[in-house]
Amino acid sequence: MPAAPGGPRLLLRRLREAMAEPVSPQQRLDRIVVLIAANVIAEVCSVYVVRDDNTLELFATEGLNRDAVHITRMRADEGLVGLIAKTAEPLALSDAQSHPSFSYRPETGEEIYHAFLGVPLLRAGNTLGVLVVQNKTYRVYSEEEIEALQTTAMVLAELIASGELQALSPGAGTAARRPVSQRGVALADGIGLGHVVLHEPRIVVKTLIAENVEREMERLEAAIEDVRSAIDELVERGDGLSSGESREILETVRMFAHDKGWLRRMREAVQSGLTAEAAVERVQSDNRARMLRQSDPYLRDRLHDLDDLANRLLRRLVGQEGRAGDGLPENAILVARSMGPAALLDYDRARLRGVVLEEGGPTSHIAIVARALGIPAVGEIANATGLCDSGDAIIVDGLSGEVQIRPTPEVEASYAEMVRLRARRQEQYRALRDVPAVTRDGVKIGLHLNAGLLVDLTHLHETGAEGVGLFRTELQFMIAERMPSAAEQQTLYEAVYSATGDLPVTIRTLDIGGDKILPYMPALEEENPALGWRAIRIGLDRPALLRVQLRALLKAAAGRPIKIMFPMVATVEEFTRARDIVEREKAHLRRHGYVLPSDCRLGAMVEVPSLLFQIDEIAREADFLSVGSNDLMQFLFAVDRENRRVANRFDPLCGAAMRAFRLIAERAAAQGCPATVCGEIGGRPLEALALIGLGFRDFSMSPAAIGPIKAMVLSAHAGEVAQLIETELARASEGTSIRPALAAYAKAHGVPI
Ligand code: PEP
Ligand code: MG
Repeated sequence: MPAAPGGPRLLLRRLREAMAEPVSPQQRLDRIVVLIAANVIAEVCSVYVVRDDNTLELFATEGLNRDAVHITRMRADEGLVGLIAKTAEPLALSDAQSHPSFSYRPETGEEIYHAFLGVPLLRAGNTLGVLVVQNKTYRVYSEEEIEALQTTAMVLAELIASGELQALSPGAGTAARRPVSQRGVALADGIGLGHVVLHEPRIVVKTLIAENVEREMERLEAAIEDVRSAIDELVERGDGLSSGESREILETVRMFAHDKGWLRRMREAVQSGLTAEAAVERVQSDNRARMLRQSDPYLRDRLHDLDDLANRLLRRLVGQEGRAGDGLPENAILVARSMGPAALLDYDRARLRGVVLEEGGPTSHIAIVARALGIPAVGEIANATGLCDSGDAIIVDGLSGEVQIRPTPEVEASYAEMVRLRARRQEQYRALRDVPAVTRDGVKIGLHLNAGLLVDLTHLHETGAEGVGLFRTELQFMIAERMPSAAEQQTLYEAVYSATGDLPVTIRTLDIGGDKILPYMPALEEENPALGWRAIRIGLDRPALLRVQLRALLKAAAGRPIKIMFPMVATVEEFTRARDIVEREKAHLRRHGYVLPSDCRLGAMVEVPSLLFQIDEIAREADFLSVGSNDLMQFLFAVDRENRRVANRFDPLCGAAMRAFRLIAERAAAQGCPATVCGEIGGRPLEALALIGLGFRDFSMSPAAIGPIKAMVLSAHAGEVAQLIETELARASEGTSIRPALAAYAKAHGVPI
């Protein structure tokens, strides 16, 4: 492949003409391979396309035997072409036949060719096919030649993605539109069937090939300059953090904006004849493909940062598209890289059927809000935004964590059936609404709701919950644009009380810091935010914030009983200091003639393991305890609850955790201090069964968990379970779980878990 006549620019111009010709799709593709072969001076140019059965099929060739077109097919991992598809990397060989992956196909007649250069046809990080050129000689392809072929590949990828080639292959469609099934992490239960709405609509690059290369180079340089100075400004002002971007991310993005390799590759792409935006997209697509194959989370995050930067550049070059929030279609399923809770609340709830995210763990805020709204959600779907297009059919299974993009009719029918079944089960749970939650041996179990937004409180009535066991006040703060004023807070708490009527509500003071960031508060640079300045620590160090909240709570509760609890208490003294602040606020209100709550109980959350060793003392001081098992497990086992690699490493039903729970239940009972469980564990039937066996009698959980937990309680026998757990714990060596024994018991006794 000596220096190409006319180079890549001429080729791109010719391709543009070919794309515009009024010919059939096959004729267009045939013409394109001839053009590429002639331009790069190769004897062979072939296009392989990934079909929806995941095979690679020869779609066009110049140089190989044409009879092999639509006949030669290989497995996705077969041969050199398969290798390129799998790695999404170019492959240049001076002697293809000596490569271990070479697979000989007699029908193509390729045995006389030695040099081989193949590049993936990438779009939004997905491999749609492979473009190959071959030469008879044993030649070495240069970097420039590889780059030029990749640029050409981009045009072909667009052609495949347009769906024009869909009908060419007998028996199967091209992979660009094939059904995709992916498993991520279940964030919010429920099944949603609908159509894709991209939260950030993809920036569509319509013009790939430049009319005037110099002009495109100027546009690229100007856009880079603009984006750089916008980022510089954000970093310097330090307040660009409102959209959840931390300074660290911005610093990294700034570093990339000056990355010479990245800039050079984009400039070269423009030099080869692409428009500025197509050049950005071309480099971004390679980057995305690399990102998807990167298993190191740190490096993957960096590639994400680079992707962000490319998006900024694209928006600058093409202009910002309208937000997806405008005119949401019926049955919308939102697909996003990541999303804040406020953004989700902006959408019309009545039309939303689900959420799919590339990021987002089960305890992230978006997950909490999705659960509160009852919207099925799945996180950690790699490249979700690249896998689907607006309007594609999609199914979200928020229980298994599966997402089906462009499902086959069979898959769709089976999910529709599942939805019907679930609706029937919900009907059964609804029938239990007014049935008291009492075990077979007559033990009454209190079932309460976890809430954080006013919308959650509508579930009180539907579920028949006895009250709100945990109202996370920080959620309202997290979705606000600015710090809610004292009056706004009071109005909110009044609304909470009026929605709950006579039912009891336990309100937790602000649990911010760690992963719960208020967008309008400057983010702290902390090595270990989960162990840092957060929750009650902020409340005690900055009492003004806590006082304002307490005063609003007390005023709102005028004349009615109130229960307040403090998060992340690590020492008894922290609790007594917080209690002193409440007493001072009460005295202040009394002095000013306000009506005080009729009864005011103060509780401590047990979620820092140090409290386990002061459990008698805290149970004596506090009016009640509430076990925050999400954090308690995180700190007990030193496993980051947000980190998927470790979050599920320890079973909360293992001996160590069970003993910790038992200690709390026993000591609280001994001190006559009520103890509830408000972490997620209390909403899982088997875990809740174990906790009942350990002596817990009150649980607070998400609305969807109430029905299944009540069904479990009704057929459980607390005494038998207590017995079983004692036997199992006496036997369990540390680290082993009582799960198998308890599950077997539940099965044998018909306890639904
Ligand atoms: C917990 O830690 O279990 C808890 C209920 O609090 P949060 O999930 O809000 O940290
Ligand atoms: Mg907690």
